[in-house]
Amino acid sequence: MAKIIENSALLMGQMMSQPLLISGLLVHAARHHADTEIVSRRTEGDIHRYTYADCHTRAKQVAQMLDRLQIAPSARIGTFAWNGYRHLEIYYGSSGSARVCHTINPRLFVEQLRYIVNHAQDQVVFFDTTFMPLIESIQAQCPTVKYWICMTDADHMPHSNTVNIHCYETLLAQESGDYEWPTFDERAASSLCYTSGTTGNPKGALYSHRSTILHSYAVALPDSLGITARESIMPVVPMFHVNAWGIPYACPLAGARIVFPGPKLDGASLCELIEQESVTMSAGVPTIWAGLIQHVIAQKIKFTTFKRTVIGGSACPPAMIQAFEKEGVQVIHAWGMTELSPVGSVAQLKQKDYSKSKTEQDQILAKQGRPMFGVDIKIVDEKGLALPHDSVAFGDLLAKSFWAIDSYFGVTDSPLVDGWFPTGDVATIDSDSHIQITDRSKDVIKSGGEWISSIELENVASAHPEVAMAACIAIAHPKWDERPLLVVVKREGATSDDATLKAKLLDMLTEKVAKWWLPDDIVFVKQIPLTATGKMAKLKLREEFSSYTWPA
Ligand code: AMP
Repeated sequence: MAKIIENSALLMGQMMSQPLLISGLLVHAARHHADTEIVSRRTEGDIHRYTYADCHTRAKQVAQMLDRLQIAPSARIGTFAWNGYRHLEIYYGSSGSARVCHTINPRLFVEQLRYIVNHAQDQVVFFDTTFMPLIESIQAQCPTVKYWICMTDADHMPHSNTVNIHCYETLLAQESGDYEWPTFDERAASSLCYTSGTTGNPKGALYSHRSTILHSYAVALPDSLGITARESIMPVVPMFHVNAWGIPYACPLAGARIVFPGPKLDGASLCELIEQESVTMSAGVPTIWAGLIQHVIAQKIKFTTFKRTVIGGSACPPAMIQAFEKEGVQVIHAWGMTELSPVGSVAQLKQKDYSKSKTEQDQILAKQGRPMFGVDIKIVDEKGLALPHDSVAFGDLLAKSFWAIDSYFGVTDSPLVDGWFPTGDVATIDSDSHIQITDRSKDVIKSGGEWISSIELENVASAHPEVAMAACIAIAHPKWDERPLLVVVKREGATSDDATLKAKLLDMLTEKVAKWWLPDDIVFVKQIPLTATGKMAKLKLREEFSSYTWPA
């Protein structure tokens, strides 16, 4: 236990004491980057553009609107919305006025959505026109919601027989924007995001103003995502998934231009926006980038401004990093989770790595990276004993951070173990603190008492040019308890038949992994199920293969 020195024994610093509040980020951007643009593809179909100064005024109008609707401080304000300027205004208008911005993932099941709105006790729900049918299906069972507000103008209001809906632009037009942000304790809740585990109900991570500001500084650092006033950043990661990895906060902090893709997330639409709006940097999960890369290669597109993209949320296969490199785009591999705000580590070289070969550098950059200041990590064995950082020992990954949760919203049991958050990931750590995630603990394959890394097998398989996606799951085995089964989706235009591709993949794997890691079978499917956040849904896949039997 670290020694605690009481204040009475200390000479206190004589510096201004101001709470770290989210409103301050937008005030800063409106003052010092007033004419920097925020561009959005709207649900209405067109491209909208305005500036940080405009955004600030409208965020203040949102705060005034919530005052007029008599919504108290700390009330939860739900959003069902794509990445766009109105969503950004609600982020700041609600948190800045001491309400809690509760972003909801519309891709979850209706029962989960109802549960989440009710558990959070949302009082207002803002939603994009796209989600009108979804709102109609949950509205009757969400008694705490007093106002359903559709994020469009009067001309585009969808019709509904069931929901009493208000129009965002009509409400906003009643407000002057002449508003002063309140000041309050920086530890107050600012936003809420539910994460759906594989068992039980979704659980809420309740972020504070303080944790959000500290996380924003950290993600903006050059060795982190590197967000600067010289970038045009397109967050593809949804604003309903862990606050789009903090990008909507880090951009105003740095004065970066933002390009919001709205509802169109297919490869062609993203490419079009990247080129038209001179995007320099982006961020998203691997499944989104798989679509974009396929489109770029098929259409022989050459990017003119696009230089970097952050990939995280699930393991980025080295083959994807290389495919981007060929297109002149550097991939920054990052690891994190909802409970970590979310960024925990980012893969970046150290100075000493510059003397290493390109292959060695690539190996470092394909890992999940090292923690930035503000995050500490360790791996432990089954007894909770710390394991060495030697890149060989692997165990349960635990994290501690200024921006990690210490409890879930409305849940009394603490998830912490001796003050550390158990991430549910299994990893190795090397002597330079680079993490390598080998699995989710619930996805590990245990063969004869030894762990096989499903991520490593997937990475090798997805490097094959005829493979679009590969998932490795554990299947019960009479002798070894479990053995790996590789499930593969072929790339469009793949010419090999199943038996030939299977043989090619086994050859490839034989060169790269230990013999006893080789999957006992490879099967081909049309698609691999995805979760609401676009990751491979291994639980679902295991269910689909529950009656699978090994070939004789
Ligand atoms: P979520 O809270 O939905 O964002 O999921 C967090 C989980 O996603 C982590 O605990 C990891 O299992 C996984 N994850 C996130 N980033 C990566 C990454 N770069 N590589 C492997 N797994 C990742």
